[in-house]
Amino acid sequence: MPELPEVETIKRDLTKTILNKKIVAVCIRKPKVIKEPSIAKFKKSLIGESAKEVIRQGKLLIIKFRPDKFLAVHLRIAGWLIYGHKEERARVSFQFSNGKFLHYMDQRLLGELRLIKDWRSLNFVKNLGPEPFTLRPEQFVQIFKSRKTKIKALLLDQTLIAGLGNIYAQEALFLAKIDPRRPANSLSSQEAKLLGLKLTAVLREGIKYKGSSVDSYRDLNGDKGGMEERLKVYGRKGQPCLICKTPITKIQLAGRGTSFCSHCQK
Ligand SMILES: [Zn+2]
Repeated sequence: MPELPEVETIKRDLTKTILNKKIVAVCIRKPKVIKEPSIAKFKKSLIGESAKEVIRQGKLLIIKFRPDKFLAVHLRIAGWLIYGHKEERARVSFQFSNGKFLHYMDQRLLGELRLIKDWRSLNFVKNLGPEPFTLRPEQFVQIFKSRKTKIKALLLDQTLIAGLGNIYAQEALFLAKIDPRRPANSLSSQEAKLLGLKLTAVLREGIKYKGSSVDSYRDLNGDKGGMEERLKVYGRKGQPCLICKTPITKIQLAGRGTSFCSHCQK
């Protein structure tokens, strides 16, 4: 599932690639992914337009065409975007006047595209918490100390902190040496601040290496991200911890696979 670093990578690539290119055709092969408006209106409203800005909020991608015309792209589990030649597997394709295409790919068909007047009014956006980059150390302490939820599950709650998903939450907990099963309110102030620092650090590293391609995620050119091989616990069940050599443990926590080192993470 694309998390903040993957979506930020797509945003940066789109900004370099599609701005001011005129859309001349829209091909919708799977109407299911278009949530609003109608298919006919979606097509008609986009033909002749060109993107002016690409915005990211949490894991949501927003392409601005006019002050009152935005395409919000929620990639969800397996959505991704690719720029290039004709691609029959694409769910939705936007053709530009230079003959190239922007394709929306999504094997699971769980992603959502919305052409809307104001992306900030989407309920999903209104409920988004702040991103780790914008939080001061004391704010992490405040968020954790009043909640009994297991810390790993809390980190995935987009209404409290936006942008994290299953991969980066596990990585940050490993770096902060905190057991993912601990109730959030059991963290000391020092641990909460350290976790805040590690959350920011791991997201920045993810952005630097253009994301992790553990599943279907690819960048706009169809290339894999470089973060996958840098992950320290995610996907390393049974392999030795990079610090103490204890085999990495994998459990189910709040319905999601969670890997950690039972020796280093207390
Ligand atoms: Zn260890």
